[in-house]
Amino acid sequence: MTERAFVAGELRGYRQFHLDGDGLHPVVHRAAGPWHAGLEQARCLVGEDHDAPAAGCGCGLYACYLPGSATVALGAVNAVVAARGRCLLGDRGFRAARARIEAVALSPAIRCRPMATARVRRLLADRYPATQVYASTRRMLKEHPPQDVAGLGIALAPDRSRQYRAVAAALWLSFVVTGYALAFLPADVMAAAQARWPLLVLAFLAWQAALIWLFVRLMALQGPPPPR
Ligand SMILES: [Zn+2]
Repeated sequence: MTERAFVAGELRGYRQFHLDGDGLHPVVHRAAGPWHAGLEQARCLVGEDHDAPAAGCGCGLYACYLPGSATVALGAVNAVVAARGRCLLGDRGFRAARARIEAVALSPAIRCRPMATARVRRLLADRYPATQVYASTRRMLKEHPPQDVAGLGIALAPDRSRQYRAVAAALWLSFVVTGYALAFLPADVMAAAQARWPLLVLAFLAWQAALIWLFVRLMALQGPPPPR
């Protein structure tokens, strides 16, 4: 991957946060503490004495150009950020010197509980008064669509997260359906199947391996673009 330095007006990006009682924490460097209400300033978290972001280091406030791969982890809060100052541009995303949280979407786990929804909305309004809070990621993305970064000379890497997710869902569904089907099979068919148990074990292992591979691929799309 090639990274180029760029000083943006404001560059839109997508990423996730962990929501705690004290605010929105980065998913990767969670111990760094919650982002500030206004502009969050990047600092080198591996203790190097340089301004973040720095080429050859992983520091800087990261985000993806497209929302697909930035909305993968379950339980995390999907967010839109606006970056300013010096940015290192990668193929999928960037690392910035400063950024603010433009918008966040409530996760389904919060949305389905009215008490939790009210509590989280209060917390976000209190901690991040300038951040727009959406009831769903879909609505947030409709009002905060991706910027066209072609003008910055970025050839976007294809976003395969949707395909990976679709295959993972299909694999999961096929496993569940097979499981239920087994319960309704006639006894003689079951006996024949049991005689071929090594084949069944092999199929199960292949299914597991495929799911793990998909999970690893999806998680690789998350997080900061790797340093050059
Ligand atoms: Zn650094």
